[in-house]
Amino acid sequence: ERDELHLVYQPQISLNTNCIVGAEALLRWSHPKLGDISPNEFIPLAEESGLILSIGEWVIRTAVQQAKSWIEYGLSPMIIAVNLSAVQFRHQRLPEMITEILSDIGFPPEYLEIELTEAATMKNPVNAYAVMDKLYEEGIRMSIDDFGTGYSSFNYLKKFKVYKLKIDKSFIDDIHTDPEDRAIVNAIISMAHSLGLKVIAEGVETQEQLNYLHTHGCDEIQGYYFSKPLSTEEFEIFAKNEKNS
Ligand code: C2E
Ligand code: CA
Ligand code: CA
Repeated sequence: ERDELHLVYQPQISLNTNCIVGAEALLRWSHPKLGDISPNEFIPLAEESGLILSIGEWVIRTAVQQAKSWIEYGLSPMIIAVNLSAVQFRHQRLPEMITEILSDIGFPPEYLEIELTEAATMKNPVNAYAVMDKLYEEGIRMSIDDFGTGYSSFNYLKKFKVYKLKIDKSFIDDIHTDPEDRAIVNAIISMAHSLGLKVIAEGVETQEQLNYLHTHGCDEIQGYYFSKPLSTEEFEIFAKNEKNS
């Protein structure tokens, strides 16, 4: 209501083509007195108070509208990824709300990706299964965020219509020195591929990390190595430069 929220966008790069294939929308709160507040701090409060439902709807609408504008502006179509809290995921009208936004804006559903955490899907797997089914029928993609840090059941992973796994940053940080992290990352990549899923690594900051992931067949990366989350204007410049290079 006070217009203090905005989104920033972090590019997702394909390791095959070196092109931007998507952007993750990340929420920011610029408070007039407290300054910028991290989503890690205010999202849990928004979840407790129930405000997350209206904030979350605003996030989806704003991100989809932005992605649509970028297509009209001449950028190559790309996936727009949006984070969803477990509270939103448990809300019955979620699939309807999302499809309404897509049809209002006239945005192709296959370019929207919903990022869920393992906790969001595992708390009530039967309900999660139904919601994911509906979203899948609409053509919307789903990915599992922070993969490897939650408590996934392989049985449910098999049933969920997941499109992509996002390997958590904590496994990437020491990938060039820690043999256990390497083993875990290799296992996630090969399991994902065997299940027909794509894999993206989060929090990639160095050339060494990128090289390792590239050599071991990871599909996409996201992280400061390529770019921090960007404002709309910065993102347009980044995407245009990339297109020309
Ligand atoms: P996340 O979904 O795991 O997002 C990745 C976080 O890592 C983002 O922090 C991003 O800025 C940061 N990051 C990306 N690349 C790097 C890197 O190379 N190095 C480091 N150190 N960090 C990197 P951010 O934007 O502060 O978001 C924090 C969390 O807040 C997100 O974690 C997500 O769980 C939540 N969040 C953000 N936006 C939303 C939203 O619209 N809705 C909901 N429900 N949650 C959101
Ligand atoms: Ca995310
Ligand atoms: Ca994550």
